[in-house]
Amino acid sequence: MSLSPILTRLAALLPAGRLLTGPAQLASYESDGLTAFQERPLAVAVPETADEVVALVRFCHAERLPFVARGSGTSLSGGSLPIKEGIVITLNRLNRILRLDPAQRFAVVQPGVINAQVSVAAAPHGLHYAPDPSSQSICTIGGNVAFNSGGAHCLKHGMTSNHVLGIKAVLATGEVVEWGGASREQVGPDWCGLFVGNEGLFGIALEITLQLLPKSECFHTVLAGYRTLEQAGDAVSAIVASGLLPGAIEIMDALALEAASAAVHAEYPPGCEAVLIVELEGPRETVAVERVRLDEIIAASGPVEARPARDAEERLAIWKGRKSAFSAVGRLSPDFIVQDGVVPRRRLGEALRHINAWSREMGVRCANVFHAGDGNLHPLILYDGRVPGALERAEALAGRILKMCVAMGGSITGEHGVGVEKRQYLPDMFSVDEIDCMKRIAAAFDPCSIANPGKMFPVAGALALVQHGLHPLEKAGLISRE
Ligand SMILES: Cc1cc2nc3c(=O)[nH]c(=O)nc-3n(C[C@H](O)[C@H](O)[C@H](O)COP(=O)(O)OP(=O)(O)OC[C@H]3O[C@@H](n4cnc5c(N)ncnc54)[C@H](O)[C@@H]3O)c2cc1C
Repeated sequence: MSLSPILTRLAALLPAGRLLTGPAQLASYESDGLTAFQERPLAVAVPETADEVVALVRFCHAERLPFVARGSGTSLSGGSLPIKEGIVITLNRLNRILRLDPAQRFAVVQPGVINAQVSVAAAPHGLHYAPDPSSQSICTIGGNVAFNSGGAHCLKHGMTSNHVLGIKAVLATGEVVEWGGASREQVGPDWCGLFVGNEGLFGIALEITLQLLPKSECFHTVLAGYRTLEQAGDAVSAIVASGLLPGAIEIMDALALEAASAAVHAEYPPGCEAVLIVELEGPRETVAVERVRLDEIIAASGPVEARPARDAEERLAIWKGRKSAFSAVGRLSPDFIVQDGVVPRRRLGEALRHINAWSREMGVRCANVFHAGDGNLHPLILYDGRVPGALERAEALAGRILKMCVAMGGSITGEHGVGVEKRQYLPDMFSVDEIDCMKRIAAAFDPCSIANPGKMFPVAGALALVQHGLHPLEKAGLISRE
């Protein structure tokens, strides 16, 4: 098949075979982790060096050709969904750790490096990279930077933004910039911080300098089962109120427990509606003191059973169950949407009651697995895409939950980004002036709107349908982007 003139010139920027255009080759790039949306790109470029990425972006800028940077495509908000009539620039082959400096505790990595690989490389030096998304065995640092990703242990250590010291990037204009760096000194505003969380709208990160932390000397991990979700929520409030700062506080509800048990044979106390996982970490002496206090609080919160991990193996088994919960839910339902709205921690119980009531009322099953310590909910809304109207009902429940989060003083996203999926809810959280200001900042990096256009910001009415195909809710007349 002969290529169009623009693709022929694009292909000339790369060695043969690294511009994918065949239908079968493009098929695996049509969606990301949010499979409700699909779009076929014109082509997928597979660069292997930073210079190739720069050449591709300069070409896109000159030709006004939209592009989407892609890491592993695990976005749960449609962040790496292709743009119609645009290309995908996939960064998986830029996967080298360029430098690891144990003395100064930093690593410089290419964007396609897998999150967990950084900690593997740092481990012989007693160091690790703290942000630990549940997808850490497949997601890339470039994707983590674009979404300011979090994870179970971000309660104590902070999100990706707290661990990125420097970024070298090619902006959507083709200019190459370098902000921050290992020295931790900077001039003016936090430019590097501004780049983190940009959802691929500013350009492409080419090199990222990451802070490494010493591995904790000691852990105390407790799994406690409760008769009700509210009891588990109350236990979280009591732990937070006590002043303890665990590394992680997570909750899984009955449906999530069922899924994790089936998938990785995790064993949970029988007859429980919820399981709470709390992990203390730090120097041995500190953990020894804190665990006494934590065990008292948990005992007073009325669990059916509380099981402290007795060794590293039991600790890993607890985390394996938790981290597999998302994918395990695939066993319960052919399709699901994962939301990640945030509520103030003291309102967790109230939020969960609403979600359960709406789930029953709307006949949509919903599993809950969440970062309880941050108030970051992760309702997994189950549906069968083959059933007419099922996706629309699932999306309607998702929308209700997001609006509740904002009304309670929280956020529409804690870590998965806005992407395509939540862009119509941005005005629930920000004023017109605030959104206009954000758009002007994005336009300073990408004046021609070619970097991941149509993501994050609400798109006006019909234009959205043309750019990304139909949003299922719009198709059903259930939402409007006006
Ligand atoms: C089972 C599962 C569990 C998950 N658990 C978590 C979790 O605990 N916490 C969490 O935060 N997220 C979680 N996620 C969501 C997802 O893994 C994260 O958002 C992750 O950061 C995406 O990385 P990726 O490499 O897959 O990026 P992609 O999905 O490929 O891209 C994500 C965004 O980053 C942009 N991008 C990618 N690379 C670059 C680059 N080099 N420069 C500029 N922009 C770029 C893309 O354009 C897109 O907008 C989970 C997802 C799954 C499927």
